[in-house]
Amino acid sequence: MKEQNLYVLGSTGSIGESTLDVVARHPDRFRVHALSAYSRIDKLVSQAVATGSRVVVVPDDAAARRFTALWPADKPVPEIRVGADALADTATDPEVTTVMAAIVGTAGLPSALAAARAGKRVLLANKEALVAAGGLFMQAVRDHGAELLPIDSEHNAIFQCLPGNGERARAPQEPAHGVRRLLLTASGGPFRNTAVEALRDVTPDQACAHPNWSMGRKISVDSATMLNKGLEVIEAHWLFSMEADRIQVVVHPQSLVHSMVEYEDGSILAQLGQPDMRTPIAYGLGFPDRIDSGVGLFELMTLRQLDFEPPDLNRFPCLALAYDALRAGQSSCISLNAANEVAVDRFLTGRIRYTEIPQIIGDCMERMGAANGSCPSSLEEVLDHDRHARAVAAELCMLRA
Ligand code: NAD
Ligand code: MG
Repeated sequence: MKEQNLYVLGSTGSIGESTLDVVARHPDRFRVHALSAYSRIDKLVSQAVATGSRVVVVPDDAAARRFTALWPADKPVPEIRVGADALADTATDPEVTTVMAAIVGTAGLPSALAAARAGKRVLLANKEALVAAGGLFMQAVRDHGAELLPIDSEHNAIFQCLPGNGERARAPQEPAHGVRRLLLTASGGPFRNTAVEALRDVTPDQACAHPNWSMGRKISVDSATMLNKGLEVIEAHWLFSMEADRIQVVVHPQSLVHSMVEYEDGSILAQLGQPDMRTPIAYGLGFPDRIDSGVGLFELMTLRQLDFEPPDLNRFPCLALAYDALRAGQSSCISLNAANEVAVDRFLTGRIRYTEIPQIIGDCMERMGAANGSCPSSLEEVLDHDRHARAVAAELCMLRA
């Protein structure tokens, strides 16, 4: 494959950093055209120095000034672009072949969608984009000849276990032939065995202490509540054209089997590996080649056992809420995701309890009732509905504070 020129959206985050780690191992294959960050501008500076990125995108003028002030005097300054429009527009730069969409939350939707509409290879880590706008996003991939490679480890595993994945990257509308079910594995997070009564008092740091994965704080809380798995069920629905009833969540505490595909003949194909995001990232970057990710040997002989158990919906009510949203339709999924982003933010900043997160989401979905019946058909309508649900969720949080 010819050299790829990358735009890494959210380069200073956990996925962004892992992406640059893989990229640095293959200077013959990858160049970095652009990087983006919302905070941690000092880190953005060191990344831009190390990669020789030609463009950086920052949120506002203050961040741009800070970037310039920190930039080393002996190096040519990259072009600095400012604001949310620049974030999306940079995805359309003709030099860019490949976009890593690794911004957290719905904030990452416009830029990820712009990359699909520009017909790029899109490495999608930002699951919220598919939850909020799956129909629009998949249509954009098809209409504009983009290539979509899932980076979320479960979806990357399923993608690897499906036949014809060259065509699958083109977002076909039918499920792969002969597939009976998709089995999404979930670790169960830090509270898999915590007494349900004790969940009321857990702290943000406890919720972010994931037993197997090191991730950003929002997705860490989502993993603790298992809303993350719910978002992933919705993500799998769009990526693989699979209805809710054929997507099953299986708790697998070791996080070594990253997900499975069950076929009509009874075969189950699984993808295994260390819980290290550099594996799915390298798969997406190298596709269809396999390239070194920096992940060490997987010593099967040291494995004592692989456990599988059903999810406890009493402990993880968010999972049931996500299935409800998927069955109800696109607007409900937007409400679910928006309410969760607001509730997780309020929990991380000490304003609501951990156990109030599912309550806020459930109440918000109910309050959005009639509006949930509509089906947004443009990015603007999606963002309108998202804003409305956020306002409702914020008010619900205030009432509890
Ligand atoms: P993170 O919090 O570590 O990083 C987020 C990045 O997005 C940062 O670079 C930040 O500056 C940027 N950002 C935040 N808010 C922004 C805004 N409003 N506008 C523009 N940029 C903004 O998050 P992460 O853990 O790297 O996760 C990124 C995405 O990947 C999420 O959607 C997450 O669900 C998904 N994901 C992450 C993992 C993982 O292991 N971390 C695994 C699977 C999927
Ligand atoms: Mg995942």
